[in-house]
Amino acid sequence: MSVPEKIRVLLEERLDRRVYDTWCPTLELNEAGKNIWHIPAPNPFYRDWLERELRRPLEEAFQQVFGVIPTLVFKVADSSTPIPLPDPPKSSPVVESPKTAPTPSPFSATLREEEQQTALNPKYTFDSYVVGPSNRFAHAATLAVSENLGNLYNPLFIHGGVGLGKTHLLQALCHAVLERNPYTRIFYLSCENFVNDYIAAIRGGGLNSFRSRYRNADLLVVDDVHFLVGKEASQEEFFHTFNSLHISQKQIVLSSDQPSTDIPTLKDHLLSRFASGLEARIDAPTFETRLSILGDCAKRQGRDLPGEILTYIASTIQNNVRELEAAVTRVVGLSALSRRPLTLELAQEALRDSVSPRVSTVTLGRVQETVARYYGLKVSDFRTRTWRKSTSLPRQICIYLCRKFTSHSLAEIGEAFAGKDHSTMIYSIKKVEKLLEKELIVRTDVERLSRELQS
Ligand code: ADP
Ligand code: MG
Repeated sequence: MSVPEKIRVLLEERLDRRVYDTWCPTLELNEAGKNIWHIPAPNPFYRDWLERELRRPLEEAFQQVFGVIPTLVFKVADSSTPIPLPDPPKSSPVVESPKTAPTPSPFSATLREEEQQTALNPKYTFDSYVVGPSNRFAHAATLAVSENLGNLYNPLFIHGGVGLGKTHLLQALCHAVLERNPYTRIFYLSCENFVNDYIAAIRGGGLNSFRSRYRNADLLVVDDVHFLVGKEASQEEFFHTFNSLHISQKQIVLSSDQPSTDIPTLKDHLLSRFASGLEARIDAPTFETRLSILGDCAKRQGRDLPGEILTYIASTIQNNVRELEAAVTRVVGLSALSRRPLTLELAQEALRDSVSPRVSTVTLGRVQETVARYYGLKVSDFRTRTWRKSTSLPRQICIYLCRKFTSHSLAEIGEAFAGKDHSTMIYSIKKVEKLLEKELIVRTDVERLSRELQS
C-alpha cells in the first residue's frame, strides 16, 4: 500500500463520514522532500478549507504510520494540473452544528483565478468582531442577512471610513453563510476585481461567460463599491448584474467608504437600486469599544497588556481599528526586542513615531464657533457658568467634538466651558456616544459638524 493509501485508510476510520466523502477521495499527497508533503488545492478558498479540516487528522495519521509529524504544505496547485473537485451532494446538506460537523466549501469551484485571489481571511468572523455603539446596527443587519439570504434587506449596504471593519463584517457574513450551507455559491470580491474582470471580459470577448458567471451567484458580496466612481461602463454592467440577481431574490451585499448618496457620479438608477435595501453605517469606535478591541488583539498576540497601556492606546488612536491593532503590535514588538517590561513609558516610546499627532488646525474656539453657528447659538452660551437646559445637547456635542478634533486634555476642554471639571466632560462625551447609537438626528448633526471641522 502506498503512503497516500495508508493515510487515506486511517482518515476514513477517523473522520466524520461526510467530511471524508467530501475531501478525501480527491486528496493528493505529493512527497516533496524528506518528511515534507505537499497537498495541492485548486484555489485559495479550497486550500484554506482543506487545511482547516485536514491538517490535524493528517498529522495524526502520519504520526501513527511513521512515528513523526511531517511538514504539510497546503498549496494552490499549478493550473496546468487541474485538481478534481468533489461533487456537491445531491441535496444541500443540513448543517446541524457547524462546530461539531464541519463541512467543506467547494463553492469556489465556480470561481476563476482572478476572483480566487480574494480569499476569505479566516480571522474575519462574527466571533472576532467586537460590537459596540458604533457598529451595532451594521453588525446586527449583517448577521440577520447571513441567516436569511435574499429575504430581509436586499441589498445590504455597509458604509464607513477606512479601517473601521467593513471588510471584516462582509467576510464574517460569507463565513457564517458557508457554515450554514457550504454549497452556497458566494461571489466575494472587491469592486476593483469586478471592474478588472469586466474589462478583461470585454477585451477577450468573454462578456457572455462573465455575465452568466456572476449572475449564477446565490450571494454576491462586493467590497468598496465607491471604486465604481467615474467608471460608467462598469456601473452599467454592475447595474445589470445587480438587477438580474435582485429579481431572482439572490442576496447582494455591498460596502463603501461613503453613503451611496454621497458617492460622486454614481448613476441615478444604480443609486435607487442601492436605496431599495438597507444602508447601515459604521462609525469610529467609542472608547470602550476601542479598549475591548485592543484587549482582544493583545490576547491574540499572546500578551495581556496592562490597563494603563490599553487606555493610552485607546485614547491616542481613535479613528481607525487597523491602527489600533498596529499599535499593539508595535508595543508588544518593542518590549520583546528590547526585553523590557510592558510599561506605559515603553508604550509611549513605541508609538511616538507611528501615532499621527492629533494636533490639527482645529482649536477649541473653532469648535465652539462652528457648533454655535450650526445651532444658532452664541459662543458665550458655552462659556457661561450657568448652563441653560435648552442648550444642553449642543453643548454636549460641542464637548464631544472638542475631544475628537483637538489634542487638548479633558481638563483643558473643561476650562473652555466655564471651568467645568473633567467628570462633566466625560459625562457629556459618553452621553453623545450613547445618542449617536440611537438618534439619527444626532448622528447627522455630528457628521455634518465633523465634516465642517475637517474641511
Ligand atoms: P475597512 O474594510 O472598513 O477598511 P477592515 O475590515 O479591513 O476595515 O478592518 C481593519 C482591521 O480592523 C481588520 O484587521 C479588522 O479585523 C479590524 N477590525 C475592525 N473593526 C473591528 C471590530 N469591531 N472588532 C474587531 N476587529 C475589528
Ligand atoms: Mg475594506
